[in-house]
Amino acid sequence: MLTKSTLKSLLAVVLMVGLYFANLPTGKAQTIVRQDAEIKKMVEEISAANLEALVRKLASFDTRHSLSTLKDKKKGVGAAREWVKAEFEKYAQASGGRMTVELDKYNVKANGQRIPQDVELANVMATLKGTDPNDDRVLIISGHLDSRNTDIMDAKGKAPGANDDGSGVAAVMELARIMASRQFPATIIFVAVTGEEQGLLGARHLAEKAKAQNWNLIAMLNNDMIGNSSSDETELRNNMQVRIFSEGIPAVETEEQARMRRATNRENDSESRQLARYMKEIGERYVDQLEVKLVYRNDRFLRGGDHTPFSQNGFPAIRVCEMNENYRHQHQDVRVENGIQYGDLPEFIDYEYMRKNTALNLASLANLAWAPYAPANVGVNIKNLTNKTDLQWEAPAKGERPAGYYVLMRETSSPVWEKKFFVKDTNVTLPYSKDNYFFAVQAVDAEGHESLPVFPVPVR
Ligand SMILES: [Zn+2]
Repeated sequence: MLTKSTLKSLLAVVLMVGLYFANLPTGKAQTIVRQDAEIKKMVEEISAANLEALVRKLASFDTRHSLSTLKDKKKGVGAAREWVKAEFEKYAQASGGRMTVELDKYNVKANGQRIPQDVELANVMATLKGTDPNDDRVLIISGHLDSRNTDIMDAKGKAPGANDDGSGVAAVMELARIMASRQFPATIIFVAVTGEEQGLLGARHLAEKAKAQNWNLIAMLNNDMIGNSSSDETELRNNMQVRIFSEGIPAVETEEQARMRRATNRENDSESRQLARYMKEIGERYVDQLEVKLVYRNDRFLRGGDHTPFSQNGFPAIRVCEMNENYRHQHQDVRVENGIQYGDLPEFIDYEYMRKNTALNLASLANLAWAPYAPANVGVNIKNLTNKTDLQWEAPAKGERPAGYYVLMRETSSPVWEKKFFVKDTNVTLPYSKDNYFFAVQAVDAEGHESLPVFPVPVR
């Protein structure tokens, strides 16, 4: 006869067996995360206190509206850009002459919209020249210096722009400070653009210059609002996630590129999307307590940012942006209404969150600038009908010789790469069908720095 106590002990045994099986390893391979000591060190050099000091200084110019005064020594965009330039020049001292600083001026014609009369604007740019004279790769990180309040045309009223986009500019400055003393074979441009709120003017100027001068621009990272973690609609903070926006179907394609995209089902594998995925992997490799959310859009719903002119000129470009936006502090006049403080003020920024988002940028930029060139002529062989996948590529023609290559693989429905095969040769046959998976190849050096992945084209 079953007594109550035997039932109880039977139940306990069943529970224990259940727990035992629940705790068994699932058979999933453990990934060993390899961190580069120098990147780790640079990430640790980013300081929340520094970032706060930079944001507070940027907010102290009252307004950095693109059309605000250039004459006042303390207020307006003129004083702000001189200050950023002077800071860049301080950082450049550690570069042994490799970092040069300039006001990159450009003219904008009156357009009857946000530019009422012809005007000369300027981006503040620090260029850290690559150490390898044969390396023509360029990487850009940007934030926008200009700010606004409720009235987009108000060039005089207060517009502290602490988060939009003091946070992005401060991140760019912090990276310039930390990276100036390090040697990268590729060139990195740190830029505070202007004219964003008046129509992405400074970014367009730079993108068109890159296009006209045929730059080998492999990555453009736009940081616009990366410091706010609160929401005006809920009490919830989110300082554990950050968004990266990237286009799926490229803004510009030739007929042939569009045909090839359709033929290879490449709508989720644009170069900008590869860059976004890369930043998710590298960012999460180096930054604790931060999840990178890939958003499959060029930008927020019906909106755009400084990466957009770069995409439109055919360059891989993404936007980093906080998870929560707070509309009490975005594009608002500084005021108190019904006991609520409005305005983009420095006290509403979460500087620890901003530190993590800055670190995501640093780790991604450094890893990419130290990586070999991407492999060339990456192809998937379609000569024979087979359930395997035959990939081939060539070593990059320039730069450091890769130690090998990672062949990346994922389910067609997976947002991120799921498997990584290390190959020393320049071809591989994998026992997985190209019908059921996506593949890409990246070059990797002995320290583990990976290039951007290259999506294969069909070859015979
Ligand atoms: Zn902005």
